[in-house]
Amino acid sequence: MTPNQALQKYFGYSSFRHRQEEIVTRILNGKDVLVLMPTGGGKSLCYQLPAVLLSGLTIVISPLIALMKDQVDSLNVNGIPAAFLNSAQSPDEQRELINKLRNNRIKLLYLAPERLFGTENKLVEFLKSLPIVQIAIDEAHCISHWGHDFRPEYLMLAGLKEHFPTVPVIALTATADQITQKDILEKLNLKNPEVFISSFNRENIVYNVAPKRNSFNQLLAFLDKRKDDSGIIYCLSRKSTEALAANLKDEGFSAEAYHAGLDNATKARNQEAFLRDDVKIVVATIAFGMGINKSNVRYVVHMDLPKNIEGYYQETGRAGRDGLPSEAMLYYSPGDVQKLKEFARVEDNPEQSRIMLKKLDDMARYGELQTCRRQFLLNYFDEEAPESCGACDVCLTEVERFDGTVIAQKALSAVSRLNERFGAGYVVEFLRGSKSEKIREEHKQLKTYGIGADISKPDWQRYMRELVAMGYLKTSEGEYPVLQLTAKSDAVLKGLQKVELIASQTVEERTDVAELPFEAELLNELKTVRREIATNENVPAYVILSDSTLMEIATYLPQSMDELRLISGFGDIKLARYGREFLVPVKSHCAAKGLSSKIGEKKPKRERRQSGERKTSTERSGKPNATQQESFNLYKSGKNIAEIAAIRNFSPITIEGHLCRFIELGEIDVTDIVNPEKIPVIQEAVEKYGADKLGPLKEILGENYGYGEIKAVISWMKAGRGEVTL
Ligand code: ADP
Ligand code: ZN
Repeated sequence: MTPNQALQKYFGYSSFRHRQEEIVTRILNGKDVLVLMPTGGGKSLCYQLPAVLLSGLTIVISPLIALMKDQVDSLNVNGIPAAFLNSAQSPDEQRELINKLRNNRIKLLYLAPERLFGTENKLVEFLKSLPIVQIAIDEAHCISHWGHDFRPEYLMLAGLKEHFPTVPVIALTATADQITQKDILEKLNLKNPEVFISSFNRENIVYNVAPKRNSFNQLLAFLDKRKDDSGIIYCLSRKSTEALAANLKDEGFSAEAYHAGLDNATKARNQEAFLRDDVKIVVATIAFGMGINKSNVRYVVHMDLPKNIEGYYQETGRAGRDGLPSEAMLYYSPGDVQKLKEFARVEDNPEQSRIMLKKLDDMARYGELQTCRRQFLLNYFDEEAPESCGACDVCLTEVERFDGTVIAQKALSAVSRLNERFGAGYVVEFLRGSKSEKIREEHKQLKTYGIGADISKPDWQRYMRELVAMGYLKTSEGEYPVLQLTAKSDAVLKGLQKVELIASQTVEERTDVAELPFEAELLNELKTVRREIATNENVPAYVILSDSTLMEIATYLPQSMDELRLISGFGDIKLARYGREFLVPVKSHCAAKGLSSKIGEKKPKRERRQSGERKTSTERSGKPNATQQESFNLYKSGKNIAEIAAIRNFSPITIEGHLCRFIELGEIDVTDIVNPEKIPVIQEAVEKYGADKLGPLKEILGENYGYGEIKAVISWMKAGRGEVTL
């Protein structure tokens, strides 16, 4: 059987993802590998497929029982004999397992490292008597001090190669920076290892950060829109997970807490309920999740700042393993950074403390970011990324500021003329010169009456909110809040303080993953069938079939076993075991509604963009929008940046941003904007320090180099004209 045939037969997938095929081939050739792939990328398949194809036993080292059980269930459902060893098994169960192993009736055996090398049992000696063909080490970063999740018991694995010198080893992790990678290779003593690094981009996850204010209310608003979805909410402390879970229950949500301090029975119960969709939300510390394979987690919320990007990325990566649109939400407050600094210090280890503090610092920068979050994350993992992803809060919000000093002065003097005794609604009507009877006659005589007639009511309302947010105005407490001046107002009124306002704000709807029309009623019936099968077999529902598989069925309405085979996720065994049961509701639904199969419309599943494929520059930044085009038109007519800024009432920085788009498109020559002598200097700095950190670049380059110039060179380099890949 070829790897491709096995992929279809045992896993029901028609094509490999990332570099799975190369990895599998290398293992089949008996070579060592290190695999870096994001959570949800499909690491397990890299050793499960060789395990099926090779005749002999694959040992899988994994840190957590929860992970093992889940994987073993999934394998067995796919018709691949697998088992795990754990201390909870009775001597009888263990004996039975040993027998099966002796008789070659198990393909994959999952173990914790301390079981393998524990002193009291001679497991390693026993295993050496079996035909071992592959050793897989999951969560391999646990072996390194430099990783974020060091586990001392993993150090025992250093002896592996002595015991099994000829067996290929595959080490896998979702998170490893370069020192950790090197450490893994050294500690495990891998021979001539090839390192496979996949793109870490998770296209189906939208990254959001919101300033943390009243986080519980913020969370409720978030959850209200996601009532039917499963999600994980991470908190820093055990106590807060319990409190938050209780509060959510009070609000009518289906939520349970999970942390390492709960007794085992409660932990197992809550986890199980979540896996089976009986509980929608788990409120957890980071103890929850490693190895949780639930594929339909729709969102991951962080109530507190994670300690590092690695952890954050791994946790958010638990959303959307099924490839459907999912979200990450972080509530960020600078106060959290201070709190975490205390935790970051590792006693008696200044060097490790330094590394931990640096990691925290990067995490804080992520929270403060004004540029694309996905780009930052991917760059963090040494991967190139376009400047704008279109699927993070920064990219989805277009903010342009302009000099709004005059507008602010009008607003403030209106408030002052009205003796600080009227609410925003009245002030706006007054500014706009409303003829309404609501406006008192004596106010209509004032000089400020109607001085803001050129600005629409919604714009005025927005400006008022911004002025309040910036502290140039405040609203009084009480039942009828009125606008009042603040200590900062005077400087604005006297023209000593400039005020920048936001020109237009457009938050686009998520459009990245097109939703196919599907039969909602049928989908529910399919879920019921799945739940029944899962209960019968005593496994979580998604082990039977994932949500995305059910979604495909409800979309393409397959009418026969042959058609069902074309649905992604149906391997031969699953098809034979469950195919008919799922066809029943499809057929009756179609008969009742007069629908027929749409399987002919099914295209091969859209695979994720591979890291090697680059988007073109227009694709990357989208078409220039109208406002950018307008700046460009003025530029073409011979105006310089300062003049355009003055004409358009935008800041020069905004205009520079507009023009950079056209540099990327090749319509403006970079030398028009940047003195040619400066270009190589900027280019060198960018190559050395990366393009994502404008602040530090400016600092390095010094006074003589403006932000606009730096940005222009970066745009030029990104367009490929600098012959540099960023
Ligand atoms: P990881 O261990 O890297 O976090 P998993 O191994 O759990 O990820 O895989 C994530 C999901 O992707 C699983 O549901 C898995 O069955 C699915 N998957 C893996 N490889 C493929 C593939 N080639 N085509 C389609 N789905 C795949
Ligand atoms: Zn983005």
